[in-house]
Amino acid sequence: MFAIFVVTCIVAYLGYRLQSLTFLGAILTVLTGTLIGLSFGWFGLYLLGVFFSTSSLASKYRSRDKEGVDDIVEKTGARDAIQVLANGGVGILCALGYLLTENFVYVYMYIVSIAAATSDTWGSEFGVLSKNKPRFMFTFKRVEPGTSGAVSTFGTFMSIIGAFVIVISSILFVQMDVALLLMLWGIGLSGSVIDTLLGATLQRKFRCTVCGKLTEKKVHHQVSTTYVSGWRLLGNDAVNFISIFGATLICFFVLG
Ligand SMILES: [Zn+2]
Repeated sequence: MFAIFVVTCIVAYLGYRLQSLTFLGAILTVLTGTLIGLSFGWFGLYLLGVFFSTSSLASKYRSRDKEGVDDIVEKTGARDAIQVLANGGVGILCALGYLLTENFVYVYMYIVSIAAATSDTWGSEFGVLSKNKPRFMFTFKRVEPGTSGAVSTFGTFMSIIGAFVIVISSILFVQMDVALLLMLWGIGLSGSVIDTLLGATLQRKFRCTVCGKLTEKKVHHQVSTTYVSGWRLLGNDAVNFISIFGATLICFFVLG
């Protein structure tokens, strides 16, 4: 138990030093990691580590080529505490569920929650590097890279791979046959689908009054942006949480 806490602290510290996490983000990572480790043991921490390391690398990968996207997405740079909760909060719920009930479905749900988080992160971090601009859901019009609710072929491909990496990494600790592996992979991917659907419909969008760009930011060019569409309470973090929660809920009903 103490070893799990120490390892989590080291990872959070490195994340902070490498500017993948803000200070509060690092604190939240320690709490998340310790709780998940307490419930799922080293497996829980290991899977969190695969998500954390690959997602941080994905963010850093060709970061200069992503500068244009910074105008559009709500948050860039180091992940803050809310972002850690948006991605790891459902994992915490699964850990609590397993601690309280010892029902193995919570282990599967945990795998799905991390697969969904990874799939979404890989999809957006790699997708914005696509040579072709993404197409918006429903209208199929090409929009600026980074726009929520839009997909590119490359981004979709990478989100499929991201979910797969998590499920295949799990087989070191969790026994599963091919059918179960495919099921967890598919359910994990459903998180990205929910994310894109919400991004295209209910997620709040603003427009900069200075440069005219459509953005998720409340302030652009130091001026408050104007509201365009979506539910005002529904920002990117809330959408992430809901989509991971949705995928995990599907897992509960399918495998529970
Ligand atoms: Zn602007």
